[in-house]
Amino acid sequence: MSFQVFGIAVSRGVAIGRAVLVASSRVDVAHYFVLPSDIQPEIDRLLRARDAVVQELEVLKTELPEDAPHELAALLDVHLMLLHDEAFTGGATQWIVDRHYNAEWALSAQLEVLARQFDEMEDEYLRERKADLEQVVERVLRALALEQGTVPQPATPRDFAGEDPLLLVAADIAPADMIQFKRSVFRGFITDIGGKTSHTAIVARSMDIPAVVGTREASRLIMQDDWVIIDGDAGIVIVNPSPIVLEEYRFRQRQSELERARLGRLRHTPAVTMDGEPIELHANIEMPADAEAAIAAGATGVGLFRSEFLFMNRDGELPSEEEQFEAYKAAVQAMKGMPVTIRTVDVGADKPLDRLTVNELRHEHVLNPAMGLRAIRWSLAEPSMFRQQLRAIYRASAFGKVKLLIPMVAHLAEVRQILETVRKVQQQLTDAGHAYTRVELGVMIEIPAAAVMLPLLLRHVDFVSIGTNDLIQYTLAIDRADEAVAHLYDPWHPAVLHLIARSIAEARAAGKGVSVCGEMAGDPVFSELLLAMGLRSFSMHPSQIPAVKQRILRADAQRLAQALPAILASDDPQTTAGQELGAGRTAGAALH
Ligand code: PEP
Ligand code: MG
Repeated sequence: MSFQVFGIAVSRGVAIGRAVLVASSRVDVAHYFVLPSDIQPEIDRLLRARDAVVQELEVLKTELPEDAPHELAALLDVHLMLLHDEAFTGGATQWIVDRHYNAEWALSAQLEVLARQFDEMEDEYLRERKADLEQVVERVLRALALEQGTVPQPATPRDFAGEDPLLLVAADIAPADMIQFKRSVFRGFITDIGGKTSHTAIVARSMDIPAVVGTREASRLIMQDDWVIIDGDAGIVIVNPSPIVLEEYRFRQRQSELERARLGRLRHTPAVTMDGEPIELHANIEMPADAEAAIAAGATGVGLFRSEFLFMNRDGELPSEEEQFEAYKAAVQAMKGMPVTIRTVDVGADKPLDRLTVNELRHEHVLNPAMGLRAIRWSLAEPSMFRQQLRAIYRASAFGKVKLLIPMVAHLAEVRQILETVRKVQQQLTDAGHAYTRVELGVMIEIPAAAVMLPLLLRHVDFVSIGTNDLIQYTLAIDRADEAVAHLYDPWHPAVLHLIARSIAEARAAGKGVSVCGEMAGDPVFSELLLAMGLRSFSMHPSQIPAVKQRILRADAQRLAQALPAILASDDPQTTAGQELGAGRTAGAALH
């Protein structure tokens, strides 16, 4: 039966493929394809791991002390029974044979299938056996990790021809896991949780594949292997579409690919408005390897390197100074003399260091993570970690143009502490004989307090970068990761527009650099408005650069500036902007 699920559009385009359901707790399991020649060895690897767990449990059973509660022995029997059940191993094996999944992926896919069946059972006792199944899978996954056999080389669908595109469906994906899906087998994402500018959505957007978040129940309604269309522009998911709908979307998919190819031709065109204002179009990156995409898209620098992604997926260990230095240096060298703005670590809120999901964070660990020990607050609370990161950033400055950006600043005392730490770090580097050059210091304007007291902050820094994602969140008191209030997350809110416009004007008046690196900068709907506010430096996902550049090439910055007062004075800035900045400008406002 065909049906639709509605969510929040976060990454444009159309994806058509088969659903792969992954439990949120298992998104970190490796997902890759194996070659036809590796199918039997992969099945053998799975069976060896299964046998190892059977043996482990048999031993446990014989070693149970006499006085052990008899439930324990019964539990081990249930686990052994599951391991021998054809629906378990046979089902997993089938995924390897039919779909070329690696053993770990095959196991979690089969877990999803069986978990659904357990969920639907009438009998409560049987329903509760799902937890046993999960434990058994956990054990086999652990055995696979310890298994001595050779792990197959990942293959691409092209290696075995004819594989359908795969779309990932999960209740929630932590940003730490999302980053692992970069260059993965998935061609689209659907999650139950998340808002437009949640970090999971941001990483999905940086991958430039269609994604819909905040669907609330897609992971419950969609079945493993269902045919699914993701309409990333409208935020709609169509499950088991009719042939006619499928054909329509295939047509739209081809159209959007053509449009992309057309925009891609602007890559080498300098971003200059019609009235001759040169505009900086920089890239937001999460990993040094993303610099490649930035260059390919025609970025003239990196405006935001979210360094926290280097700190994730490390089982609690922080990256060493050397490791960070190598990463920053790689990004700097890849940008070939163009500026690279490295933001110090911004963990906390919806970006925990380990793989807690937003929900776990909200409900179990921290009362109000977005307002807690996040970003610079965490860095200042961990001074040796902070110094280590600053040393690595300064050392990278010997290899190109590096700028230092501090997230979530709200107090002048923080700026003083940062400046003091920078001085200490410079001294340490000089003493140790490490080379470094001048590094411009900037702060992010993402807390209303920072925007309001900007003239004071500007006395101490070289530039500012406006983080509209958080600025909107904190100005309107709307959790950016919470789909329940996503409709109130409004970049067009007059308070938001005033704070942005004022910040740009004040920074320019003080002769300091100012850019916007939040998602608004990469949304073409806001290009003219930001130009009208006097913005001349935008930073966004590389994939957004061509579309924003097209708007800039057609814009008359002076004329746009004249329209600004009317927009800021309007009760309905979105409509006024549409009228004043050009017809149709607000149509399909992607962030709204
Ligand atoms: C922002 O808040 O706008 C920003 C760019 O930082 P992040 O999205 O990483 O919080
Ligand atoms: Mg931010």
